[in-house]
Amino acid sequence: MRAQPKASHFIGGEYVDDTAGAAFESIYSATGEVIAKLHSATPAIIERAVEAARAAQIQWAQLSGAERGRVLRRAADIMRQKNRELSELETLDTGKPLQETLVADAASGADCLEYFGCMAADIGGSQMDLGASANGSFFYTRREPLGVCAGIGAWNYPVQIASWKAAPALACGNAMIFKPSETTPLTALKLAEILMEAGAPAGLFNVVQGMGDVGAALSSHAGIAKVSVTGSVPTGVKVMSGAAETLKKVTLELGGKSPLIVFSDADITNAVSAAMLGNFYSTGQICSNGTRVFVHRDVLDAFLVEVSRRAAKITLGDPLDEATQMGPLVSGTQYDKVLAYMEQGKAEGARLVTGGEAAHVRALPHGYFVQPTVFADVTDEMTIAREEIFGPVMCVLTFDDEAEVLERANATQFGLAAGVFTRDIARAHRVIAGLKAGTCWINTYNLTPVEMPFGGSKRSGIGRENSRAALEHYSELKSVYVEMGDVDSPY
Ligand code: NDP
Repeated sequence: MRAQPKASHFIGGEYVDDTAGAAFESIYSATGEVIAKLHSATPAIIERAVEAARAAQIQWAQLSGAERGRVLRRAADIMRQKNRELSELETLDTGKPLQETLVADAASGADCLEYFGCMAADIGGSQMDLGASANGSFFYTRREPLGVCAGIGAWNYPVQIASWKAAPALACGNAMIFKPSETTPLTALKLAEILMEAGAPAGLFNVVQGMGDVGAALSSHAGIAKVSVTGSVPTGVKVMSGAAETLKKVTLELGGKSPLIVFSDADITNAVSAAMLGNFYSTGQICSNGTRVFVHRDVLDAFLVEVSRRAAKITLGDPLDEATQMGPLVSGTQYDKVLAYMEQGKAEGARLVTGGEAAHVRALPHGYFVQPTVFADVTDEMTIAREEIFGPVMCVLTFDDEAEVLERANATQFGLAAGVFTRDIARAHRVIAGLKAGTCWINTYNLTPVEMPFGGSKRSGIGRENSRAALEHYSELKSVYVEMGDVDSPY
């Protein structure tokens, strides 16, 4: 097996295993080849991880922010040096093309480690004088770590998700136990190795493998202060209710069915580029994708001609070949799900513009490939317009005026992301202000620089990742009142 790790879990600075845990495999979804065999964490493994994290956190929190930051910045450098190795592993684990993983996965993880590494020295509280009427008393605040945090990842951006959770958590002085998706268990282990190599104390970042039950055990564990999950809405609900028992803090980065609105004055070439990026990158397996593309009736034909011309040219193939632009879906389960949605789109009367079926890639007959697909004449009620597909399926809906499209765009339980294409600057800001979504773009789509908060509103989530905002979700304020005079008491 070409990607077999030394053991399933990484705890207390070393690889460990417990073969009593349920066995599972990681596959290369372009071929179906088993690339690694692992074991799910047993309760004993989870307890060991919590103990290791607790001990490391006490030690780590005593360092200055600058010292913690130095470790994170070193980890960023090591991650960049190992970018190709990590990208190849991510490609094997996810099936995403190397063309993407080389620039978007470990690279984004390194950016995040560097950003929070630079910020760590500046995490602190504030002070305020209360004036002469309070005897010159004052208060100050301390920004303190939460303790041991749990991270639970989805399978679409495994090392990026692990880094997006670990970097702000560690910068604030916490330790982390991370559970990757069972579908993509490998690169989080590499992040653990890198953090150790960078000088993190053993136990600061631990990886435990497993399925939903392991995530649930972390969510409800009394020794864990916070849980952050990236996943679907039903999983977010389960994590939050599990966390409720111990009143843990939660960050939920969940799914979406985001609108991308193209007005008639938009630059159509750019709008098509963005719609394609926001539906086909990572074979459409991105939570913030603009999967409901609302196109103004006046430019609909031009948009569809351009999008179908360019979709037909997308190169599917072996993800390890850097010329490949689109890889397979991550798993057989996801493949069946996406093909079923394509059939449902046809059955419910959407007009198939291009794609709509499984794709056959020569030399990779067992790969989970599907065609990049565009449906037009999609209506708001159709299943493909309401449910998250998580595959390369673009739904184009037609609209006539601004108020109408705003209302339709917001008519969803999700609120992760949204985009607007127009050359009218006032309209751009007006429409964005009216969209109920946490992360928005004007005249582009899906760019997520680490400096910008990322997260959803409504059922797409709670909290924000990246940016200064993430620090607030991995720390809490302690307020300290300092009396400078006598205690004024009526007793
Ligand atoms: P899931 O919700 O199925 O799983 C997410 C993670 O939660 C996995 O590690 C999973 O384990 C774990 N899990 C499952 N059940 C529980 C439980 N009861 N308690 C705790 N943890 C649990 O999502 P997928 O991995 O299938 O990823 C796809 C989904 O993630 C999509 O809906 C997508 O929108 C969303 N997503 C959101 C992002 C965001 O930032 N908003 C980014 C990327 C994806 P396992 O799978 O191993 O059983």
